Amino acid sequence: MKVLIVEDEQELLDLMLRYMKREGYVCEHATTFREGYKKINNHEYDCAIVDLNLPGGDGLKLIEILRKEMSNTATIIISARNTVNDRINGLEVGADDYLTKPFNLSELNARIKAILRRKTNQMSNELVFGNLQIDLDKRSVVANQTTLKLTKKEFDILVYLARNKNRVVTKDSIAEYLWGDYMDDAFSYDFIYAHVKNLRKKLVQNDCGDYLKTVYGVGYKFISN
Ligand code: CA
Repeated sequence: MKVLIVEDEQELLDLMLRYMKREGYVCEHATTFREGYKKINNHEYDCAIVDLNLPGGDGLKLIEILRKEMSNTATIIISARNTVNDRINGLEVGADDYLTKPFNLSELNARIKAILRRKTNQMSNELVFGNLQIDLDKRSVVANQTTLKLTKKEFDILVYLARNKNRVVTKDSIAEYLWGDYMDDAFSYDFIYAHVKNLRKKLVQNDCGDYLKTVYGVGYKFISN
């Protein structure tokens, strides 16, 4: 799950980043309007959490742009402005939710999950494919009644591919999805290859070998009917 946080209050931003990473989200952040604008134009996010009073512009504008261009990104406004009008304005430009500062981080987390559930039309936070069950809340995977021991990256890759089932997912988009800003010079596509190889091994050991296909030279595809 990839999340962008646009917030200029450094202390709050640090708190959120620490909390969200611990919860298993891949996080990126921006501290000004311009930075946020660049991010949403160049990258894809599952969710954007946006402050309204930003240096250089109004966060509402960012929500508006996201609505127009990438309707799949869930958006949550976080703001100290808490009049009814502020809330209505926020929801009218297309934000999915509005949280008034100060807020509890676990409430923010619960709201993100609720929105993503709504967006994917899922009744539960579980993806099920035949004998394979992926629980997004518990971050657990059960294959033929056996709980797999997956690393964080293996789990994230599996979820990303499963959410894009029957579509070819390129190595580039996996890299961008999992590492985003944190892709350093030492990054190599071999990392992805190694993670997928281990993931596949764990699936095969439990007779769930038919889901992950390699599309040579391009990437991977999660096969499901
Ligand atoms: Ca602010």
